[in-house]
Parts: sequence; structure tokens; C-alpha cells
Amino acid sequence: MAVKEIKDQCTACGACISSCPFGAIIMADNKIVITEACTACGACIDVCPAGAIIREAEEKSAAMDKSLYKGVWVYIEQVAGHIRNVSHELLGEGRRLADTMGQELAGILIGENVESLAKEIFASGADKVYLVEGPEFNHYSTDAYTITLTHLIETYRPSVILMGATNDGRDLGPRVACRVGTGLTADCTNLGIDEETGLVAWTRPAFGGNIMATILCPDHRPQMGTVRPKVFKRPEQDFSKSGEIIRVQSKVRPEDIRTKLLGVIQSCTAACNLEEAEIIVSGGRGMCKPENFTLIEELANVLGAAVGASRAAVDAGWKPALHQVGQTGKTVGPKIYFACGISGAIQHLAGMSSSDIVIAINKDADAPIFKVADYGIVGDVMEVIPALITEFKKIKG
Ligand code: FAD
Repeated sequence: MAVKEIKDQCTACGACISSCPFGAIIMADNKIVITEACTACGACIDVCPAGAIIREAEEKSAAMDKSLYKGVWVYIEQVAGHIRNVSHELLGEGRRLADTMGQELAGILIGENVESLAKEIFASGADKVYLVEGPEFNHYSTDAYTITLTHLIETYRPSVILMGATNDGRDLGPRVACRVGTGLTADCTNLGIDEETGLVAWTRPAFGGNIMATILCPDHRPQMGTVRPKVFKRPEQDFSKSGEIIRVQSKVRPEDIRTKLLGVIQSCTAACNLEEAEIIVSGGRGMCKPENFTLIEELANVLGAAVGASRAAVDAGWKPALHQVGQTGKTVGPKIYFACGISGAIQHLAGMSSSDIVIAINKDADAPIFKVADYGIVGDVMEVIPALITEFKKIKG
């Protein structure tokens, strides 16, 4: 249900119906009804002449008994029956948080015919899996997944929910948080437990990445946050472990889904699957012009690597934004990261500093990237990259 309610003073004038951008308000038996399609945007609150619509969340938090909320949940993101790495990473971190809090760890698995994935979730550390299956979950759908996760939270009341800061996680997390009347710390780069309060301490860059802010959620439950992929290491899996599967019936009705998926166009090839890549070759402004990026692509191709870019290269239109690495791009953690013609600004480092090995190529020996590089080559990218391509080709045979 939405985070608003109709109070007695409603005159059923209908102003809210025409103001709702989501068609979520209807008239039934001469009464206003706010349906599941409500996104809590607040447009109806602004237009109601009688002040009859309020945010349910404000009332909820005052009355909330926080002791009823227990357990750490990880939202399991699966695509076509494969669990994304970030969900395993969060299960590892969730296990650590749950143990510190003395609580259980559960995975939230939503999809069509996905039960077989539960054993992987237990192997990564979960005690329980809440499983919701149905054809409506075949592909990620904002409406179906929002309704389902909201229903699970309202029924089972977790204390903490971790989600990947992926496209889907960034879509789903804030919507669900708004519906259940809590906050969400987005794009976290570290998690801990605040010693004084026992609350989750969510850490994320703030003020342009110049400081790290640690955020607590003292007044609302659940405590929610999205965490960037590759921030935490994927845990070793133990397939001898098992746990409890709690099957939950889907509450989604066909009319709740406002978008129809006509088809899926694969725009991302292996070259832009940065978050899962073992090797990444990234180019920056030092590549000087867009045509020179073919060298980055060629080197990536020889190494079976993904292609990254600095924001300067993306802003110049040399690569699409889905290749951007950094604070406002993707967080990556490959085994090897090549930084070619990239200065090493703090916002770029925020996205790649957890790489195992960094190899930097820059003509300026004082470029900050060399401070984080394991191997540095001072030289012109137009000479060094072709030489590397030639040598790697020889090794490959
Ligand atoms: P430059 O800083 O211009 O560096 C180019 C480098 O190439 C220089 O070191 C130069 O010596 C070298 N060079 C030049 N020619 C050659 C050559 N022929 N051979 C070898 N080396 C050469 N940036 C990101 O990357 N990702 C982000 O997500 C991001 N988010 C941001 C968010 C905010 C809020 C802000 C304010 C900034 C953000 N930035 C981000 C921008 C960041 O501050 C830098 O401006 C950007 O990273 C610089 O990109 P660059 O290293 O490619 O370019």
C-alpha cells in the first residue's frame, strides 16, 4: 500500500485523481481509493483542497516498534537464472553484519522458476531464503518487484536490507524505501556497525567525493542501502550448507504492471561488462581523440578485457556512459586494470582502487595515477599501447 491515506475530511472532489501522474487514485462507491500503483510522489497531497491526504510514513515512524524488526536481508539480483556477483558479495558482508548483530541472514529471491538458485544463496552464507515465483517476474519489472519486496518487508519486518547499486537495485531500492516509510543510503562503499547504537553505519562518498560520510538510520526500519559492486569480496562458497526456504505467494495482479516488455535489445557486450570483468583497459583524455580509442579496444580484445573510460573521455563523447569508471560511473575490481592517459583524479580512483593490479601509462611522470599504480609506464600512449598489443599477440600465438 502507498504511504498516504485519506482522512475523514475527504469530500471526494476528485482533484487528486486528475493530479496523479500514475493513475493510482480511483473513485469507488463515491470514495477516493489510493491503489498499489501509488509511488508516494505527493502530487495529490499538494492539490487536495481539504488537506485530506497525508503521508502515512510520518505517522508510521512515530508508532514504529523497532524491536519487531529483525534480521539482515540481501536482495538477490538474478538475470536469466544467474545470480549477479554483487549479490554474493553482499551475502558475504551481510553474514558479517548479521553475526555481529546476533541475527539471521536471509536472501530475497524473486523470479520465475528460480528455486534452484537457493542452494547458491545458502552456500554464500544465508540462513533463509524468502522465495517468490511467478511468470510476472520473468524479467525485472519495477511494478512487480516493488510490490513484492514491499509486501515481504511489511510481512516479515527485517532490520537491515542490502541491495546492489546496479541499474535494477537503484530503481527498486528507493521506491521500496519510500513505500515502507524508511530512508536509503545509496551507493555505499563501506558498511559497519556503529558501536554506540548497534545500527548499521553506511559509508559513502559525499561532497564530490572529497569526504566520506557515514550515515545511520535511527528512527525508521528497515535500515536500507545500496552497495556498489566489487566493494566487497565474493565469499568462498560452502555447498554443504543448507537453510530454510520460505515460499511466499505473489501479490501482483496483472493490472498492477503498467509497462509491457516488448523485447530485450542487448546493448552491452562483454566489452562493457565492467563489473564482472577480470581485466579492464581504460582510456582517458590522454587518448587525445576518439579515433585513438580503437587502440584501447584492440588491447582489450587481445587480452579478453572490458573497456573502461574516464569521465573526461565519456563527456567528450568518445565512449558511452556505461563504460565510465569512477564515482559517478561504475565501481570495478578486476585482477588487472590498465589506466591509459588517465591522470588519476580522486573521482576516478573511487571506482577502481580496489583493482588487484593497476598498470598506468602516462606521459607525465608526476601524474597522480602513478601513486596507486603497481606498474607505471612513463610514455606516450600512442607508442606504448601498440607495443603492448604486439607483445601480447606474440604471447597468445
Ligand atoms: P585528465 O585529468 O585531463 O588527464 C589526462 C591525462 O592524460 C594526464 O595525466 C596527461 O598527462 C595524460 N596524457 C595526455 N596525453 C597523453 C599521451 N599522449 N600519452 C600518455 N598520457 C597522456 N572522473 C572519472 O573518471 N570518473 C567519474 O566517475 C568521475 N566522477 C566525477 C564526479 C564529480 C562530482 C566530479 C566533480 C568529477 C568527476 N570526475 C570523474 C572527473 C574527474 O575529476 C577528472 O576530471 C577526470 O577523471 C579526468 O579524466 P582524465 O584522467 O581522462 O583526464
